[in-house]
Amino acid sequence: MKDRYQTLRLVLGDQLNSQHSWFHQVKEDTLYVLMEVRQETDYVSHHIQKILGFFAAMRNFADELQKQGHEVWYIGLDNPQNTQSLTENVSALIQQFSIQQFEYQEPDEYRLDLQLKAFTESLKIPSESVSTEHFLCEKEEFQEFFKGKKTLVMESFYRYMRKKYDLLLAGGKPLGGKWNYDAENRKKLPRKHSCPSPFTFSNPVSDLFKMVSEQGVSYIGEVDPETFIWPTTREQSLALLDYFLEVCLPLFGTYQDAMSENFWSVYHARISFSLNTKILSPLEVVNSVIAYWENHQEEISLSQVEGFVRQIIGWREYMRGIYWAYMPEYSSLNYFSHTRPLPSFYWTGNTKMNCLHHSIKQSIEHAYAHHIQRLMVTGNFALLAGIDPTEVDAWYLGIYIDAIEWVEITNTRGMSQFADGGIVGTKPYISSANYIKKMSDYCSGCAYDAKLKVGEGACPFNSLYWDFYDRNRPLLEKNPRVSMMYRVWDKMDDADKQSIRTQAQTYLNTLEEL
Ligand code: FAD
Ligand code: SF4
Repeated sequence: MKDRYQTLRLVLGDQLNSQHSWFHQVKEDTLYVLMEVRQETDYVSHHIQKILGFFAAMRNFADELQKQGHEVWYIGLDNPQNTQSLTENVSALIQQFSIQQFEYQEPDEYRLDLQLKAFTESLKIPSESVSTEHFLCEKEEFQEFFKGKKTLVMESFYRYMRKKYDLLLAGGKPLGGKWNYDAENRKKLPRKHSCPSPFTFSNPVSDLFKMVSEQGVSYIGEVDPETFIWPTTREQSLALLDYFLEVCLPLFGTYQDAMSENFWSVYHARISFSLNTKILSPLEVVNSVIAYWENHQEEISLSQVEGFVRQIIGWREYMRGIYWAYMPEYSSLNYFSHTRPLPSFYWTGNTKMNCLHHSIKQSIEHAYAHHIQRLMVTGNFALLAGIDPTEVDAWYLGIYIDAIEWVEITNTRGMSQFADGGIVGTKPYISSANYIKKMSDYCSGCAYDAKLKVGEGACPFNSLYWDFYDRNRPLLEKNPRVSMMYRVWDKMDDADKQSIRTQAQTYLNTLEEL
């Protein structure tokens, strides 16, 4: 190490992009700084696997940079010089190494963006922020695309992105003649169907776990620190992607919405942690998927590939665009004025409702649940039960390995809780037990009866579903996508309606006991 550097470049924990142009050239007068700070471990209660995953990946990334000849300063959580604040640590290093220029990559979180902007304004040396070179659509481009449009429909943005990157097109037209093959996907797992085992790693993180525990960081969830299952290097992330291509892609779309007691990730890729830390780039992921499919068209249908590409270049980029267009207001939107506290079984999985029990238990065990478990089980129930979206957000932000606010809050507050009143979704994603029964094997092992709306053992989703529509009528009735549900409700007998309301109220009054 030298005692002076010209430039300090800050690399945040979700900026582990080894392909970034910063690293194309070794510059002896540039010091790269990474740090583990309580500011980041404590702003919400995180799953222990999320904390360990981030720190392990950051440490591996710093080692890689050093091996390539870059000058790196890594501040561990237990370093006595660590002030536990990003900006105070940077300030101290600017002094220590007589830094002349401060540079950082644009943060993806609003709170960090504010903090770093305020910090650079206070600095006496010049500073510069640069793109993370990760996303496929710039924030301004997203807002330009939707300027003057009445609604922010994802599908139109997705088509724009397909054209922009020339993906799955022939002569400017979508391959196979359709833009979206969703209708061919979304099947329930057949009985006795066996999904492949999730591809996991055995990363030893015991020392890190000991250090984090000794530092008194509070956390949620479980971990086996001898065999940490998530990828923490680029090599492992690429291996996980390869496994997805070879083993999961052929049935990814078909069973995208299926849920099972026995298979916690079904055919999902589990690459969101690698993507959100920027270890993998979205373009390399979709290009790999398309290239693999081009060589295996006899085994893999276009619908599997289109569905996957849409998640990455469509939904993921769209959520980021929405986040930057609507923050900070977005984080306090509460369209239904929901105020109920989150039931404590969200932190333990101890509920008789089998769908929630399984989805929550696996989240505690693996820091992961797939999209439909998040949307149609835990999210669905929270919305039907009128839980305060801020509490719902804090749960999702803490519990999942891939949860970073820009993608968590838009999915939770927007897509799942409809707390934005319809910016992300055109209608609330809610269902009665019917959907869960159709798409999973949860109901057969449940203490409740999926067929009953009221009475002893009636599934809570059923009465809460109708009660939700009934009590939110003034806010939803005019929505053309749900008006049919009001016609069905209106046709019901008054006595039946009243017993549904009474049943729902009983459940709402005893949420903790369900
Ligand atoms: P796959 O199903 O294999 O999909 C591949 C990739 O597509 C994912 O890795 C992800 O990068 C992208 N993708 C798919 N759906 C979405 C989506 N709706 N929004 C953004 N990207 C998407 N995703 C996060 O990355 N972080 C979160 O904090 C997060 N919170 C969510 C909260 C709720 C309530 C809901 C309903 C969804 C949330 N999602 C979140 C989206 C999605 O559930 C996860 O991206 C996905 O489950 C990650 O697992 P996978 O890699 O196996 O995904
Ligand atoms: Fe969930 Fe109701 Fe099915 Fe039980 S019966 S698993 S509570 S949907």
